[in-house]
Amino acid sequence: MSISRFNAIETVLNRTDNGVSIEAPDKRISSFYGSHVFNEQKMKAFLPERVFNSVKSAIQSGKKLGREEADVIAEAMKKWAIEHGATHYSHWFQPLTGRTAEKHDSFFTLRPDGSIVEEFNGDTLVQQEPDGSSFPGGGLRSTFEARGYTAWDPSSPAFILETAAGKTLCIPTIFVTYSGQSLDYKLPLLKSQAYLESSAVEVCHYFDKAVKKVMTTLGWEQEYFLVDEALFNARPDLMLTGRTLMGKHSPKGQQLDDHYFGSIPERVYAFMRDLEIECHKLGIPVRTRHNEVGPGQYELAPMYEEVNVAVDHNQLLMDLMDRVASRHSLRVLLHEKPFSGVNGSGKHNNWSMGTDTGKNLLSPGKTPGKNLQFLAFFTATIRAVYEYADLLRASVASAANDHRLGANEAPPAIVSVFVGETLSKVMGDIADGVHSDKEGVKEVLDLLSKIPDLEKDNTDRNRTSPFAFTGNKFEIRMVGSSMNCAGPMTVMNTIVGRQLRDFKKEVDGLVQKGKDQNAAILEVIKRYIVESRPILFEGDGYSDSWKEEAAGRGLSNTPNTPEALEALLDKKSVELYTGAGVFTSQELHAHFDVMCENYVLKLQIESRTLGEMVINHVLPAAFNYQTMLADNVTALHQLDLPKGAYGPQLDIIARISENTGKIKELVDKMSEARKAANQQEEVIDRAKAYCQDVKPLMESIRLHADRLEYLIDDREWPLVKYRELLFVR
Ligand code: ADP
Ligand code: MG
Repeated sequence: MSISRFNAIETVLNRTDNGVSIEAPDKRISSFYGSHVFNEQKMKAFLPERVFNSVKSAIQSGKKLGREEADVIAEAMKKWAIEHGATHYSHWFQPLTGRTAEKHDSFFTLRPDGSIVEEFNGDTLVQQEPDGSSFPGGGLRSTFEARGYTAWDPSSPAFILETAAGKTLCIPTIFVTYSGQSLDYKLPLLKSQAYLESSAVEVCHYFDKAVKKVMTTLGWEQEYFLVDEALFNARPDLMLTGRTLMGKHSPKGQQLDDHYFGSIPERVYAFMRDLEIECHKLGIPVRTRHNEVGPGQYELAPMYEEVNVAVDHNQLLMDLMDRVASRHSLRVLLHEKPFSGVNGSGKHNNWSMGTDTGKNLLSPGKTPGKNLQFLAFFTATIRAVYEYADLLRASVASAANDHRLGANEAPPAIVSVFVGETLSKVMGDIADGVHSDKEGVKEVLDLLSKIPDLEKDNTDRNRTSPFAFTGNKFEIRMVGSSMNCAGPMTVMNTIVGRQLRDFKKEVDGLVQKGKDQNAAILEVIKRYIVESRPILFEGDGYSDSWKEEAAGRGLSNTPNTPEALEALLDKKSVELYTGAGVFTSQELHAHFDVMCENYVLKLQIESRTLGEMVINHVLPAAFNYQTMLADNVTALHQLDLPKGAYGPQLDIIARISENTGKIKELVDKMSEARKAANQQEEVIDRAKAYCQDVKPLMESIRLHADRLEYLIDDREWPLVKYRELLFVR
């Protein structure tokens, strides 16, 4: 008997606790928003003015803090945290596993003289040695030093993480080797931000000398699935890999579109509300929530923030989601493709640049054609994406995202840029010189300014584009739901930083030759538009004709991770990253190795899990049911009935044998393929072997397992079915 599946369903149906588990401190969010964050307001209250000013300028300009100041800040943080009931502190960091890591230490210290104090000083604030030697490092540490070090990032505020067991002061940090090589996502992001800023400020000075600072902004949109904990635990694949490795499609899936923006189920609503309260206490400005396309799929989005803080907040959110869901006996699936045949989950990254004078550099205003500054930043971004599309693609490559990109319900693996009708016209007019004579900058701008209001165009959004301009920001839709946003954000900052640097050089060159500055700017913009034309695409990104057309335009289409990752080591990429000071060549190789290794490990776990599931669950169920049918046939035969009376039984018995035979054969083959793959010396070759030799076998095994699910008596089927995972609440 397939007990666990029915037990799980019964558990779900008997759940009574659908309510909210925590009370909001107050009805008004503004009264408790940020209460668990050591933000500017708290720093002001807890720090002497002199130190407060130093911290502020450290945050704004990256100026280093002195040892003495660090002591004062540590003392203030400790005081604030202890007042809030924190007993421990932790350096909080983002290793290349994709999630966050923390190691808790107690404030409590026993002094040599026997006295007991709560201690936390500048040294412990600024640097720690979390002994993270088992975090992926891509060989960076074996050559130098086994340990990793964490170092304080003052630009992201410390916060208190509250769990049922207690409260911990968390300090956002970078994670590096002894010699300062990055082992995480944060350090490259911070470096890329600095690089973009220095390039962008210079270009801003053509238009406004008052600009001192440019920051990148990120507003992410997080998609996810919710499944009841009992159902989740009854599926070994969900537990171990985060996705279903088999499961016959439910006759009703998302065809009716009845889930999208439908009313949020009570239990899910309670989860969302709790999650939002936790987010607001931690200063994560979440605002929107709604159902997504897939049954059981939802989305959450905050207001945008400075990129480093936004990335930290998204990492923190993914952690909070797990914790809050378990309070509601739910599990969050952040996997990019938990269910075959149902929409996958992405994490749209809305990216823009803003100045300290309050201007969004990608905001065209009412008359985009007239806004030369907008056009400069807008076309430089597109030109950069055209030049380095492969790097952007590589930054969102993972075993899980491979199921999504190019799978006809998500952005294709071909990078193209959608800008909408109005801006297409503006760009076309500039490129073709429609309104322009030789010197006619003013006329061009005046004429372009007659183009209708851009805002009207905003509703016309192409959902099939992986990289779309949406009014005043670019939306990168290729990012996977479980990913750290820092990867693609680092690419955006670096490539646009580089492009703006080139832009400045080119404009200055023309000016030196005697050209008027605005005319020079327009000339470079025009060239950028002409050069980036192949990447501009307004049509249906899901269509097969686009694949053909894109190939004709020379755009890459790399639907699998190992191939996509190779772009990281291109001469061009190494030159870009080392030139920008974002990665050393050694770091880049290490990051590449880690990404390949992650890919191999993910597929290895999936393949082993699938093997166990079919051998331990599916085949026994099939054999049992076959025995039941055989007994039935024997009984009918003894009654001397004509053979036709048990024809269907015989037919099913034979079809079961066909599929069980195939499964056994394929599982053996898969095991051999894994062995062969594991023997490859280079990690990229292992990754390719898993991709080419192991993955297709998993798909074939699934096909036969799903056929058995269709053939076998429902009462005998041991694994929770798709319809139950998607619809039982
Ligand atoms: P929608 O795409 O759902 O219509 P919006 O366009 O308002 O909604 O915003 C979507 C996301 O874009 C939100 O997360 C928002 O914070 C973010 N966003 C808006 N403006 C910017 C900006 N200047 N920089 C980065 N992200 C932004
Ligand atoms: Mg969006």
